[in-house]
Amino acid sequence: MFDARKPHVLFVTEASYLSSGYSTYAAEVLKRLHATGRFELMELGCFGSFADPRAAGIPWRYASAMPDPNDPEQVRRYDSNPLNKFGQWRFEDVCLDFRPDVVVSYRDWWYDEYISRSPLRQLFHWAHMPAVDAEPQLDQWVATYLDADAVFGYTDWGLEVLRRQSGGRVRAVAAAPPGADTAVFAPAADRAAFKAAAGLPEDALVVGTVMRNQARKLFPDLIEAFASLVREGPAAIRSRTYLYLHTSYPETCPHWDLPALVREHGVGHRTLFTYLCPSCGAAYPSPFADARAICRKCGRDSAVLPDPTKGVTRDTLAKVYNLFDCYVQYATNEGFGMPAVEAAACGVPVFAVDYSAMGDVVRKVAGTPVPVQRFSREVQTGRKLALPDNAALVAVLGRFLLQPEAMRLRAGHLARKGVLEHYTYERTAAVWADHFDSVKPRPHRQTWDAPAKPVRPNLSIPDGLSDEEWVRWGMCNVAGRPDLADSFTAMRMARDLNWGQTGGGMGGMAFNDATALGVDTDVHLTLYDRDKALKQLLDIADLHNRWDDERVRRSDP
Ligand SMILES: [Zn+2]
Repeated sequence: MFDARKPHVLFVTEASYLSSGYSTYAAEVLKRLHATGRFELMELGCFGSFADPRAAGIPWRYASAMPDPNDPEQVRRYDSNPLNKFGQWRFEDVCLDFRPDVVVSYRDWWYDEYISRSPLRQLFHWAHMPAVDAEPQLDQWVATYLDADAVFGYTDWGLEVLRRQSGGRVRAVAAAPPGADTAVFAPAADRAAFKAAAGLPEDALVVGTVMRNQARKLFPDLIEAFASLVREGPAAIRSRTYLYLHTSYPETCPHWDLPALVREHGVGHRTLFTYLCPSCGAAYPSPFADARAICRKCGRDSAVLPDPTKGVTRDTLAKVYNLFDCYVQYATNEGFGMPAVEAAACGVPVFAVDYSAMGDVVRKVAGTPVPVQRFSREVQTGRKLALPDNAALVAVLGRFLLQPEAMRLRAGHLARKGVLEHYTYERTAAVWADHFDSVKPRPHRQTWDAPAKPVRPNLSIPDGLSDEEWVRWGMCNVAGRPDLADSFTAMRMARDLNWGQTGGGMGGMAFNDATALGVDTDVHLTLYDRDKALKQLLDIADLHNRWDDERVRRSDP
């Protein structure tokens, strides 16, 4: 029978009315997909509290991933597993309710990998977009991405890394990056007047950046390079070049001691920070004046360095970018790096480390890649982290700032053109829409309305099996998951059996080797043997049977 229903697409994300990067992506993409009228859409919104009135205004279907605080059973379930805040505890229920043809996710590995372990996994097409921020990616991550039916990228570079590492097996489709709001982030008409209003000399040249004050952002290198530029750079620009760090200090995470760094390099008077006054709303650039300062506008003792992406309004942030003559993204690695794109949208030429997302973005916005001098490795993940060539940065910045203004403006024009071509939500929503059109929905009688498929664990395990053989046999005959017989999960179980210990991991599964990385750095080792492994295999079978029963109960007769 011809099935004329619209494709059902479930987005697993952070609630679209919140202000995180994931939330913004959901809001902007879903809004545009909704307007096409071609898809039935639903959002599983994490971190959006239960019965938040803002959810009522969402025009597509929505489910909160938070528990009803007045329902102790829901709260207990929610608190029972650290993955539940990412939506795990609600996922199967929402799927059975909405019956998605396609499930879309685009968060970090440890947020979304539960989707690949879902007992309902075989019933939907999974389109996943991981942020690949360095190479190599952990084998376990690649194994998860191989399970996805379609893989998208924040960058083409990230997709290329996954293609390479999987020997071309990952089903890579296209980049679907976040877009810049090119109406808010636009070039100001008169930059010189803008600078004067901000208290800068009209002929000031400003090298700027917008970055969280966190370990992987290379503030020490950027400050050192800037100090060389004003000490040894071209005489014509030496005395009028400023460094603008729109960032936070102090921070709750390990962070750079910025006042000590600018003092060490003798550039305190030439380095500006944004101060934001929560009392009167004023935001202005100033040399460092302690963690809290007297507000220039209202005189109250309340001006602080804001969180760079959340603390100021987008209009204020656009004004900050418009004070820059060039933008520098200086980090060991990035998954995307929205500020570089927003700066380019404001017509500010971008300089960025030629690695990870930075190397991809900087080329698409017609900027200048800064070569990598060498890489170090991160102990937790084995990923390569870049250390850029600071002397090369000094040289390219010097040459650029020496150019006549007309040439610098021309470079800014090309930067904005690159954003309009590559980083708009119109383009990104179209990439998703094309993909959903290409997925042929399977008839419900093969998926959500299929006959019951209970797993009946066979506990007559043959004698004399090696750990590897035992796990393979158990996956097929106890868990009822032959598809997992050669998986990373099975490999890890065999390794831990041989070892006699397991590191556990988030979500109560022994299988998530690195899951703890995103949330918990302590690994707690416990003894591991075939009895424990058998219990886990039975848990997989139980979980499947529970949701298979529920599916059949809710299916059409
Ligand atoms: Zn004030």
